[in-house]
Amino acid sequence: MLQVYNTLSGKKEEFTPIEEGKVRMYVCGLTVQNYSHVGHIRSVVNYDVIRRYLEYKGYDVYFVQNFTDINEKIVARAREEEMSPSELAEKYTRAYLEDIARMNIKTADAYCTATVNIEQMINIIEQLMERGYAYESEGNVYFSVEKFPDYGKLSGRNIEEMDAGSRVNVKEDKKHPLDFALWKKVKDDDVKVWDSPWGPGWPGWHIECSTMAGKFLGHKIDIHGGGTDLIFPHHENEIAQSEACFGEKPFVKYWLHNGTIDLSGEKMSKSLGNFYTTREVLDKYSADILRYFLITKHYHSPVEFSYEEMDKAEISFKKIRNTRNDVHQITEQIPDKSDSSFEIKSFLNKIDSFEEAFFAAMDDDFNTARALGELHNFTGEINSLINSPDFQITEETRFVLKKAEDKLNTVLEILGFSTGQKKAAASEQEQLNEELISYILDLREQARREENWSLADSIREDLSQRGIKVKDTSHGPTWKIEDDE
Ligand SMILES: [Zn+2]
Repeated sequence: MLQVYNTLSGKKEEFTPIEEGKVRMYVCGLTVQNYSHVGHIRSVVNYDVIRRYLEYKGYDVYFVQNFTDINEKIVARAREEEMSPSELAEKYTRAYLEDIARMNIKTADAYCTATVNIEQMINIIEQLMERGYAYESEGNVYFSVEKFPDYGKLSGRNIEEMDAGSRVNVKEDKKHPLDFALWKKVKDDDVKVWDSPWGPGWPGWHIECSTMAGKFLGHKIDIHGGGTDLIFPHHENEIAQSEACFGEKPFVKYWLHNGTIDLSGEKMSKSLGNFYTTREVLDKYSADILRYFLITKHYHSPVEFSYEEMDKAEISFKKIRNTRNDVHQITEQIPDKSDSSFEIKSFLNKIDSFEEAFFAAMDDDFNTARALGELHNFTGEINSLINSPDFQITEETRFVLKKAEDKLNTVLEILGFSTGQKKAAASEQEQLNEELISYILDLREQARREENWSLADSIREDLSQRGIKVKDTSHGPTWKIEDDE
């Protein structure tokens, strides 16, 4: 039974979607003003794994994500890059989509941008004004937090406490310092602005997410995700707007929040200027290794990023991948004809216990850290089995190892590794390559049987020069492609 930690209740809850079998899921996306960095991609990977797991469990998931494509930051960045805000937003939206394709992230069922939904946002702002939740002031429109008694329920704060802290920054046209902008007046002759009943400008950031979620998922959604840094004020404000406008509670059944990526103890962020872009990290490491690194910690916890930690992740991930490849090669081989006394049946129990432990970890609030630990235990068991001196490839060992291989592929795919996917549905080209290498190794075996050592050695040498490392084991040769990361 799946348990998820809900920020709204502050505890783990059993997951039961609003409509049986369906999950409506919304995750706050990027302000498309620059390349995505590792902090962004952590959030994306995290919700990708959650979505994949829910789909594996049989839910029909509808996943929506937004792009914030207009605000002050975008205008400022567009000036720096000497292009229009819409050109800048388009450039970095495309870059983001490239990044997530490289990361093997499943694309959202719907992406939405602020600028194509201005009309809908104005409509919601008007409804909030009609209901008395919002007011206009000098061309700006604000949400009045005092009108919404539940304000603070997500972040566990109350207006009075917050009030004292925020007095200093009070804007003169607001009734209460915590009131937030739904519509912002903009006077800038150089940039495109939108007309509204309150004059030219553009919408506030928070209203964007309430509008998109409402438009694509309805007024009550199952899962809303984002980083812990969005709990207040962004998600608090989303709740206030959506529940005030649509009149249904709760707007979101399960609020999920992922931790930050830190760099030398500080949150990785564009505003602090301490970040690594996704693409610069992907120039050094494969997407699988970056993904592995990001999910070695539970998604709530902060993760400290460094290239030293990435190197460790690489070694650790390659252990899993190599075991999977070794198993694959064994299951592809034609078994020895000889009968074997090698006992392998008991290994079936180990496969079952691995499966149980892996899914128990994932059911415990998507605990990928524990799930990966179980995966390492399992690959360790497989290694000691296939490297034991009396191991033989028989119909029976092949059958058992095929089960192990299938299990590995399933979990690798749930976690979103391309390794799992590739092997589950290897391309024709890859299959052909594997068959050719196996054929060459068969010829080499024949040369060895005929004691033609120089031919056997030169085949191995030639393969090695092409990056294919051959290892002779008690049950025949195995091979792996070196430095393919
Ligand atoms: Zn949002």
